[in-house]
Amino acid sequence: MVRIAIIGGGIGGLTAALAFQQFGFQAEVFEQAPELLEVGAAIAMWPNAMRVLERLGLKEKILEHGGVVEEEPGRFVGARDAFAGRGKSRGRRAPKA
Ligand SMILES: Cc1cc2nc3c(=O)[nH]c(=O)nc-3n(C[C@H](O)[C@H](O)[C@H](O)COP(=O)(O)OP(=O)(O)OC[C@H]3O[C@@H](n4cnc5c(N)ncnc54)[C@H](O)[C@@H]3O)c2cc1C
Repeated sequence: MVRIAIIGGGIGGLTAALAFQQFGFQAEVFEQAPELLEVGAAIAMWPNAMRVLERLGLKEKILEHGGVVEEEPGRFVGARDAFAGRGKSRGRRAPKA
């Protein structure tokens, strides 16, 4: 079996490792950090990223742990905050410069 070494266990390295595994390769991730910790408050997953993660079978897990941004054409409507169970927040997108 082909063995693949991936240097770095960020979202890129972990996604690549999962994809390689699903194609039958043995992927091993080498991460320099002693442990993986949360950095910042959150990460927005855009549709192109979600398409890849859905293909890898992660969509349901992500929706289980994340919130969903709701949008109408040209207007940000709100985001369901799945972490705090705060329901729907409302806001407006910043006007275009
Ligand atoms: C404040 C902030 C907010 C962001 N918000 C968003 C967002 O909302 N949505 C979005 O899509 N993107 C966002 N980004 C960008 C996103 O975080 C990056 O594009 C993404 O994390 C890059 O992933 P990566 O796996 O390529 O790199 P990284 O996440 O940087 O991972 C690289 C890993 O490789 C390890 N490494 C490096 N060198 C070595 C080595 N020699 N040996 C072993 N391990 C090594 C590092 O320790 C690290 O864990 C944000 C970035 C920042 C800084």
